[in-house]
Amino acid sequence: MKTFQSINPNTGQVLQDYTAETPEQIETKLARAAETQRTWAGQSFAERGDLFRQLAATLRVQQADLADLITAEMGKIKAEAMAEVEKCAGQCDYYAEQAERLLHPDIIPTDAQKSLVVYEPVGVVLAIMPWNFPLWQVFRYAVPALMAGNVTLLKHAPNVFGCALAIEQAYRTAGFPEGVFQAIVADTDAVANLLADDRVGMVTLTGSERAGASVAALAGQHIKKSVLELGGSDALIVLADADLDRAAQAAVQSRMMNAGQVCIAAKRFLVESSVKAAFTEKVKTLVEHLKQGDPTEPDTKLGPLARIDLAETLERQVQTAVQEGATLLVGGTRHDCHFAPTLLDNVTPDSVVFREETFGPVAVITEVADEAEAIRLANQSRYGLSAAIWTHDVARAERLSHQLEAGSVFVNAVVRSDSRLPIGGVKKSGYGRELSEAGIKDFCQSKTIYIG
Ligand code: NDP
Repeated sequence: MKTFQSINPNTGQVLQDYTAETPEQIETKLARAAETQRTWAGQSFAERGDLFRQLAATLRVQQADLADLITAEMGKIKAEAMAEVEKCAGQCDYYAEQAERLLHPDIIPTDAQKSLVVYEPVGVVLAIMPWNFPLWQVFRYAVPALMAGNVTLLKHAPNVFGCALAIEQAYRTAGFPEGVFQAIVADTDAVANLLADDRVGMVTLTGSERAGASVAALAGQHIKKSVLELGGSDALIVLADADLDRAAQAAVQSRMMNAGQVCIAAKRFLVESSVKAAFTEKVKTLVEHLKQGDPTEPDTKLGPLARIDLAETLERQVQTAVQEGATLLVGGTRHDCHFAPTLLDNVTPDSVVFREETFGPVAVITEVADEAEAIRLANQSRYGLSAAIWTHDVARAERLSHQLEAGSVFVNAVVRSDSRLPIGGVKKSGYGRELSEAGIKDFCQSKTIYIG
């Protein structure tokens, strides 16, 4: 029987061994999910909303314990883990309040007596989630999906199976029927079998391009809808008229949060020539002062990376970039899973750290001649998740936003997810949207009703 280990990346200590569930155990969960979905979909939005308000309260009561579990399993600092739990509670409150309004039928005037579009649940949503925000990634899709009347089966990343089971327990504590939210301890073979089963209505995956392509291919084979949130290599454009202090602060915050393991982090800083030296100096000072170390210590700003292979991959990328001609200004060193906050200057578009996603605390600076080159290089990426523009001229920024190939553009602000705004990618960053109205409708099927 296959086993999985969750290892504390800060200490190297094994936290827990998990045994993969048998096909029979998974079948029991799937049957329970399909059975529960029928009654769950029949409940009113108010009834489902009450349970989500209860879930928000449960998360707030357990906030410190859940944060400790997140920190132990994947290494983010305690303050960020606490904020992640609160964000999940806020997501429950938002959809408890808004789901009915967001899914209100659309009455469309035609030559019929009445014609309308209604939004109905897809059924059982299979979800494959990553470890970087072990609670938020799950709540981001699950809360709208379940408020819409779906139920879900979650296959989490093996290094955060403890978080998966803690989320399942929180749903139970809040009083949800047992089959509404179930976690499965399994590998990708089980995912393939579940996707082939007619009782599963759709799949959502957040993770790498490789995993997304594989799951989407399977979904296509079985004619099932998929929502994919994949990698990103977001540009942060600093134009000559930007407030350089604010831009530098935001750039470092965006890049170094969660030790750089964020899909929507600013990964490529594109800076206009006339301010490049000043901006680089400010970023360098900020990066030098970031304390990296034990994520349980209150003054630590960055913990370890979540797994040793992720730290090794990042180390290879940085070494290759330096061989290719980038200038290492800060960091570049690794000790086990701990990767020092790193700043690379003079990075050219053919460098590995420009072409590939860097999933760790590595900031990359590239000089651009003007706004046209900034847009061209920002778009010179296989990814298109989000982007940021820093300038005093917001009208100019709004105009440039339309030229960026990205799912979101933030002007003079750090890109972040917000329950009220859709998030998702273009190009190899995926498709479908999460959060807000788009993010609940993507977990529904629309039905046209025509009364002649
Ligand atoms: P993966 O994409 O491999 O893992 C994410 C999830 O997908 C896990 O639950 C994983 O399970 C599952 N998965 C992987 N391959 C398949 C498959 N063929 N079929 C079904 N499920 C699959 O990411 P990694 O953890 O290996 O991280 C590698 C890189 O991915 C990062 O460096 C980063 O670039 C990107 N990434 C992006 C994230 C984002 O937020 N967009 C989040 C995490 C990673 P299992 O581990 O069991 O294979």
